[in-house]
Amino acid sequence: MAATRNVMRAVRVFEFGGPEVLKLQSDVLIPSPEEHQVLIKVHACGVNPVETYIRSGTYARKPALPYTPGTDVAGVIESVGEHVTAFKKGDKVFTTDTISGGYAEYAVAAADRVFPLPDKLDWKQGAAIAIPYFTAYRALCQKGRARAGESVLVHGASGGVGIAACQIARACGLKVLGTAGTEEGMNTVLRNGAHQAFNHREANYLSKIKEYTGVEGVNIIIEMLSNINLATDLQLLSCGGRVMVVGCRGPIEINPRDTMSKESSIIGVSLFLATEEERRECATAVFDGIEAGWLKPVVGSEYPLEKVVKAHEDIIHCSGARGKMVLVP
Ligand code: NAP
Repeated sequence: MAATRNVMRAVRVFEFGGPEVLKLQSDVLIPSPEEHQVLIKVHACGVNPVETYIRSGTYARKPALPYTPGTDVAGVIESVGEHVTAFKKGDKVFTTDTISGGYAEYAVAAADRVFPLPDKLDWKQGAAIAIPYFTAYRALCQKGRARAGESVLVHGASGGVGIAACQIARACGLKVLGTAGTEEGMNTVLRNGAHQAFNHREANYLSKIKEYTGVEGVNIIIEMLSNINLATDLQLLSCGGRVMVVGCRGPIEINPRDTMSKESSIIGVSLFLATEEERRECATAVFDGIEAGWLKPVVGSEYPLEKVVKAHEDIIHCSGARGKMVLVP
């Protein structure tokens, strides 16, 4: 009788540091699911910027070493823990978190962080749902209190969270403006819900946005790079407008007086702090959008597990996003 395979390929991090600390190993034990957990055969895993911050050791949350990064996997249930009734072997699923890490051939996840993958979506799209769409929904609806008829500027609209924000905002009846750093990115943004796209690499793009919005300004800004844009964002807002700080890679100086003249708000967003109830609300919105057909995750660059170091370099240093970055085992 052939012996059952009990090892897999997985990326391991033994020390915090640059992308080179990501080591692909071929003899990592396949984890076993505990009572309320499932084991998933991974077909694709999303790559998120936060995974590079955590890997570098500079982020507030640090996992115990060694660890395998990756939270957003799509794949097939391989086995389930004793008390899991919601899933069975063979089910197609995606996760909003994993316990053992998603940059691997197999991953264990808590059953309540696993959702059925709708037939409409392929594996890579499944790996592009969780962090992007839950974050975009949280920023726009839960924290930004967006209302139909308002306008939103998605500042950094061509990546995972940005495209999700454009699709959700458009479905909610907002006027949607989005930025990207390339022509191709701008076209992607326009195909995914934006009424108008601007190039954030162009010297005068802020004047173009001001010209487009007129004296009224924009009601909400979903900001992906606050350390660059927060001060100028305050100039683009309408009265009572709010900047949703989704992405930030360092400090920036602002003049607080700029918030007084229009009673603007600067609101931090953290998906990590969402309550179970808020996560369920995000999931409901996502499933509604998939069923209705307006929610279609867009996959950008794809990398095999062997190229994980390059993926981590590119997600931070390469301009020209055209959707969500994914790893394929
Ligand atoms: P991503 O797929 O790598 O996309 C990055 C986006 O930023 C691209 O659209 C990129 O555009 C854009 N960008 C580059 N330079 C910019 C500039 N000067 N001004 C505005 N945008 C610029 O990353 P993501 O997954 O969408 O995540 C976006 C940010 O949100 C990251 O900082 C991430 O850490 C953060 N995030 C936060 C939370 C939270 O809970 N707060 C959750 C998820 C993500 P081009 O490539 O076209 O130049």
